[in-house]
Amino acid sequence: MAQNPESRLFIGGRWIEGRKTFPVVNPYTGAEIARVSAAESEQVEEAVQAAQSSGMSSLTGAQRHALLETVAGEIRRRSAELTALLVRETAKPLRYAAAEVDRAAQTFSFAAEEARRIHGETLELDAHPQGLGHFGFYHRFPLGVIAAISPFNFPLNLVAHKLAPALAAGNSVVLKPASATPLIALALADIIAGAGAPPGAVNVLPGKGAELGLALVRHPRVRMVTFTGSLEVGRTIRENAGLKRVTLELGANSAVIVEDENRLEEAVKRCQVGAFAFSGQVCISVQRILLNRKLADSFLERFLAGVASLRRGDPMDPETEIGPMISETEARRVESWVNEALDGGARALTGGKREGSYYEPTVLDQVRHEMKVYSRELFAPVVCIERYSDFEEALLRANDSEYGLQAGVYTESMDKALLAFRRLQVGGVMINEYPTFRVDQMPYGGVKGSGTGREGPRFAVEEMTELKLCVIRT
Ligand code: NAD
Repeated sequence: MAQNPESRLFIGGRWIEGRKTFPVVNPYTGAEIARVSAAESEQVEEAVQAAQSSGMSSLTGAQRHALLETVAGEIRRRSAELTALLVRETAKPLRYAAAEVDRAAQTFSFAAEEARRIHGETLELDAHPQGLGHFGFYHRFPLGVIAAISPFNFPLNLVAHKLAPALAAGNSVVLKPASATPLIALALADIIAGAGAPPGAVNVLPGKGAELGLALVRHPRVRMVTFTGSLEVGRTIRENAGLKRVTLELGANSAVIVEDENRLEEAVKRCQVGAFAFSGQVCISVQRILLNRKLADSFLERFLAGVASLRRGDPMDPETEIGPMISETEARRVESWVNEALDGGARALTGGKREGSYYEPTVLDQVRHEMKVYSRELFAPVVCIERYSDFEEALLRANDSEYGLQAGVYTESMDKALLAFRRLQVGGVMINEYPTFRVDQMPYGGVKGSGTGREGPRFAVEEMTELKLCVIRT
């Protein structure tokens, strides 16, 4: 499969040739690895129709559980070829691609568990005098057709985070994967169909986001949009979705605060991975490191030594830690933002150069908050250093962002940890851990410009079901 990935549209359980195609390019070699069919508006219609008539909602909990467990098993069985495909499509270093494939299997397994425990509760209606003589309960029902729109950076596991809970809850999905990385999503659709999903349960429409994505978002029979991607596109989706349910998993410029020295070595190592894994193209990558002045020099000395030792190379090589960005256009954007910061008085402690689509791991000091490298989502192997003297001041600075996805705090004080938990305006606070920490069952999502709603199978199932009440007069 990875040698010859499916490259057509997947609608109603069938592979369909599109009238037009577009290339998918290996960002490391620059070679075209496939020409993929591009869906058009009539196929949006066909896919929504197929999804609506899939019969997913009549599968039993046991059937949905078995389907999702079979998918998880198949992902594990084919992990080597899926990993290779992921590396070729994204240039994600092998070690991180393999971890993503493993996580995708976990995501399906966690969702399989949820398929067996969709439930409601009984209600104390006689707590109100007029409720006397009434018995009430509610249950959760599938919404129907869900449109899923996904980004390039975790093109397997983030698709899994949409498809698996949607199917667990008895919904069907029309997926629009990122244009740069549709092949792994098509491979996953193949696995789901092979595992026995009803035709139409999952449909995949590669193509242009602005056309297909919006057609799905506006479609009257789509009941929910689950989107992961940039703030800019998230805003457009929110404006066009009307009364549909919308989950938005958007960007961030995540901060980590290093307050105490007790775990300095650990903090240094985690920040190195958090800032530079997959060239920083991770929604919870470390973009801002806030250091207590008392430990800033010893942190930086170790951190810069670690950055210098990062192994650059072929993403297919298991030793490689850093490769190219997804495209030269992206690397050029980063170059211009960093140059703007340097012109404005920031200092590069290391890095600051671009070669084609490769951008050097870069550490910036003396950065002002209004600079793009600090205030916007960089999504690149670049990290900003800031020093502070007072912990509460550090919390304020971490909150000085239009985003709020996750934050990390290294401290040995329980009081400070709890203060951070209360004050930080984010969806998740990681204590003695980097903001990049995620395991797939946890509730994951942001506040402010980082979006609305939560993923993680249990929480996504709640978002993807409708609560319906039943009252019985006794
Ligand atoms: P993007 O916003 O450019 O694209 C995401 C998806 O939206 C793609 O499938 C694209 O084709 C589609 N799209 C583009 N324009 C559209 C429109 N007008 N209407 C509907 N759909 C449209 O994002 P990207 O560059 O692929 O991914 C990077 C972004 O994703 C970053 O901002 C990153 O932080 C974010 N992200 C967030 C999370 C999270 O869970 N919070 C996870 C991963 C990535």
